[in-house]
Formats: sequence, C-alpha cells, structure tokens
Amino acid sequence: MTALTARWQSVCDEIHQATTSALAQKPVCLIAVSKTFPAADIRALYQAGQRDFGENYIQEFAHKATQLADLDITWHMIGHVQSNKSQLVAEHAHWVHSIDRARIAQRLNAQRPKGLVPLNVCIEINIANEAAKHGIAPEESILLTLAQTIATLPRLTLRGLMCVAKTNSTETELQQQFQRMQALLAFLQDAGFDVDVLSMGMSSDLPVAIKNGATHVRIGRAIFGHRSYDET
Ligand SMILES: *Cc1c(COP(=O)(O)O)cnc(C)c1O
Repeated sequence: MTALTARWQSVCDEIHQATTSALAQKPVCLIAVSKTFPAADIRALYQAGQRDFGENYIQEFAHKATQLADLDITWHMIGHVQSNKSQLVAEHAHWVHSIDRARIAQRLNAQRPKGLVPLNVCIEINIANEAAKHGIAPEESILLTLAQTIATLPRLTLRGLMCVAKTNSTETELQQQFQRMQALLAFLQDAGFDVDVLSMGMSSDLPVAIKNGATHVRIGRAIFGHRSYDET
C-alpha cells in the first residue's frame, strides 16, 4: 500500500464510521477531489477501487479525462463553469455540482452530446451568503425558479444541491449551514422535484456533513495531500 492509497483507505473508514453512527439510510458517495494532482494518482486510486473523481478546473479536467479514457471513472465537475468552457464539461463530465445560473444550465443542455445520457446536475447554494463564493442565495424563491428552468431541459437531470461551507466555521455554524441545505432539499421535494442529493462535506468538515445528511462528500487534501497551488 502506498501513502496515497493508505490515506484514501482511512478516509473510506472515516466515512464508514460517520455513516454508521449517523444511522444514514444510504451509503455516502466519496468523490475524490483530484484537482492539481496528476493522472497517475487517479489511476492508482482507481486500481485501489475508487470510481468517483472531482475536478475544479475545466482544462485540467478535460486533459485528465482524455488521458484516463480507458478507465470507467465517474467524473464530477465541482468548480465554477465559465460559459466559454462549458462545451468541454458537457462532453466529459457525468455530473456538474456547480450550477448557479440558468444560462449555464441552458448552455450545458444544448452542448450535451446526443449519444450520452443526460448530465446529472446539482444547484450550488452559497450557503453562508459569502461575497467571494459562487452559488445562488439560500432562498426558496430563487431556488425554485432555477430548479423550474432546469426541469425544462431534457439533456440535464436535476439531482440535488451542493454547497461549500464557510471556512473556519465552528461545529455549530457548520450544523446550521448543513441543516439549512437539508431544509432547502426538502422544500424542493415538497414542490414535486425528484431530488435526493446533498453534495457537502470536505476534508475539514466530513463527519459533521454526514451527520447532517450529506449523500456525496468531496474530499481532496485528506486523500491527495496538500495542493501546491490552490483554488482560484
Ligand atoms: C477543492 C474542493 C473540495 C475539496 O476540498 P478539500 O479541502 O481538499 O477536501 C471540495 N469541493 C470543492 C468545491 C472544492 O473546490
């Protein structure tokens, strides 16, 4: 076992423990966030059994997806999607977690190749209303309008909601943010949408996220180690 697969294994164990103690009904999907790390690391984790990988930067993502096209990877785009690069996302991703405006949903719908199944998407919620973060405001009316737009797009399937919690939140603050996400998902379900995904939880807040209903966790540093260059 290498250091990389050992760290991955301990994250898997941590998720298993948190899931068991939270009495979660469903297994939690681990998305290994491989941004800034080479395709060789992804291949090594794939060989250890990991299938879901997350990337933030579109060109880097498209490059790795091409290099690893021989593997049966499920690719999650979790970073901001700029309009001028949406074509690459529509062609290579299985999921997009970061839908934050109607225009990008419409572009991805138009660009999704006909031979592929519809793209799974989540709406990104700016859960703590931070100026520096992407995502829609955590308000029901805004969420409903975007969800209704996505529902008209046949090449997209709305699966749920995603957020990045505020950095340096206390445990109580994290709980409040994740519980608000649960409430927003329940609101969409009550409005008739067939959604069940809560994509939340990163290296620093994994157990709290699972305790509060995360179905997909996005873990980078705890698996791959520190990134030599960071998010923009
Ligand atoms: C980088 C990133 C992650 C992973 O964060 P870590 O702290 O490395 O676990 C998860 N989600 C998003 C949106 C990210 O940009």
